[in-house]
Formats: sequence, structure tokens, C-alpha cells
Amino acid sequence: MIDEKGILFILSGPSGVGKGTVRKALFEQATDLRYSISMTTRPMRKGEQEGIDYFYRSKQDFEQMIENNNLLEYAQYVGNYYGTPRDYVEQTLEEGKDVFLEIEVQGALQVKQNFPEGVFIFLFPPSLHELKNRIVNRGTETEDLVMNRLVAAREEIEMMDAYDYVVVNDQISNAVDKIKSIVQSEHCKRERVSKQYKKILEDDLT
Ligand code: 5GP
Repeated sequence: MIDEKGILFILSGPSGVGKGTVRKALFEQATDLRYSISMTTRPMRKGEQEGIDYFYRSKQDFEQMIENNNLLEYAQYVGNYYGTPRDYVEQTLEEGKDVFLEIEVQGALQVKQNFPEGVFIFLFPPSLHELKNRIVNRGTETEDLVMNRLVAAREEIEMMDAYDYVVVNDQISNAVDKIKSIVQSEHCKRERVSKQYKKILEDDLT
């Protein structure tokens, strides 16, 4: 029996890129990934459920979680706290199951610091991809307009540097397919696989 730890996947990207939509579409399909349900202080929206969409907590309870080091990462976003409960992630990985986080960029950077072996996926806005095409095929827009968009885009593009993979969210189903391929590829990584086979050999010799 090969007992290997699960892989932590982190989906992040700029605000408004559609992380939540892509994540929901991914989990509507059959998958072995375990979604880590986040904790938040924001009010529940219509159609949402406690323990399914989020764990909804008071600011006081959330700050207690921070104090007790119960969160793997957390961030403030539009006046509310969002964070990843540590125990679920660590226990599930320990059981050999993959865990999937869908979080904003400040939180992803914290995970990167504490969990550098995680697989970081940056969801890229199609508008920026478009922008690149426009720049390549110059002449369709004035120089000024392209310049303005470039300045606005730079910050988002620079965020990419901390990530292992970039997925353009041109169509939800394309983005989901790419994420599934990334998961599969990571399981075929030589470092991961050879470690497992070497362990079989060792166990066999002892
Ligand atoms: P919403 O309020 O629309 O559900 O989520 C707002 C933002 O918070 C989204 O970008 C979402 O990815 C992010 N988010 C959700 N859960 C977490 C979390 O546990 N940690 C962090 N850092 N961001 C989160």
C-alpha cells in the first residue's frame, strides 16, 4: 500500500475573473478533489447554506480563530474576513486526498509561504488575453487606449509570478478542463511517482 499525502491545489486570480464560477463548475463534475470550505464574516447571500458555501462566523469568532492560529491563511476583502480552516486541509492531505482552495490573491501568497509544495493556479482574465492579441495585431486601437489598459493590466500580470500554472478563463468549460489536466499532470510528476515506487522497493526489502 502506497501511503502518499494528497496534493494541495490553490485556485486564485484577480477580483472578478470568475474563480467562484469555475470552482463550482469543476465540483459539479465527478472529481476526487476535496473542496476546503472557507470561513467568512460576510452575510449569507440568498441561496447559500452554512457549511456548504461557507462557514459564516461573527467578526469576534473569526478573530479568535486567527488568534488561535486555526487558519491556514486569511484576508480582508471588501470589509469582510475570509479564511481557510487549517485542520480540514492538513487532515485531508494526511489521508492522501487532494484539497482544493479557491481564494483571493493575498491569501494565496500566504499559502505559498507556508505550503510551497502546493500547486498554484492563476485564473487569468480573458480581457487581458484579448489585450495581448490587440497589442500583437496593432493598429486596431489608439496608442493611448492600449497604454491605459496596459498600466491597469500590469499589476494583475505581475501577480502571476508566484504561480505554477496560468489558465485563461475564456470559457468556463475550457478553464475547468485545463484545471483537471493540471491535477492529472501533477499526479504524474516524476518526483512524486519515483518517491512512491522507491518506497515500494524499500518496503519489499525490509
Ligand atoms: P464572495 O464574497 O464573492 O463569495 O468571495 C469574495 C472573494 O473571497 C473571492 O475572490 C473568493 O475567492 C475569496 N475567498 C473565498 N474564500 C476565501 C478564503 O478562505 N480565503 C481568502 N483569502 N479568500 C477567499
